Amino acid sequence: MAEYKKPLPAISTLNQPYWDGLKRRELTLQHCNECGKIWYPPAPFCPVCWSRNFAWQKLSGRGKVNSWVVFHQAYFSSFRDNIPYNVAEVELEEGPRLLTNLVAVDNDDIMIDMPVEIVFDDVTDEVTLAKFRPARKP
Ligand SMILES: [Zn+2]
Repeated sequence: MAEYKKPLPAISTLNQPYWDGLKRRELTLQHCNECGKIWYPPAPFCPVCWSRNFAWQKLSGRGKVNSWVVFHQAYFSSFRDNIPYNVAEVELEEGPRLLTNLVAVDNDDIMIDMPVEIVFDDVTDEVTLAKFRPARKP
């Protein structure tokens, strides 16, 4: 695997299950056992009812593009070879919104509400990132 020079996430005991899930090819987020809320980013309690009674739940990995930007300037030198690159906010079917990159699509072809599905990008031996591509037609 080529050396990965971009910033990596800070993995903590709180968010470890999220990153472990991505390594297994599963998108998992916390699901409140009291009110049913699913949230992101990981937090020690439900943002709606403050319950600490939650479980990590596997999600569909499907969603839609809520918003995006295209960077034409490399704020990190490790991104220089990627400009122009997109950063998108994907709204998952289950509700939470993730910041991610869209792959397998030209930046000019990205559209609001475009259906997308997760792809798993193993950037290091320890870290797998969740990225999204246009959803395949069922
Ligand atoms: Zn709750």
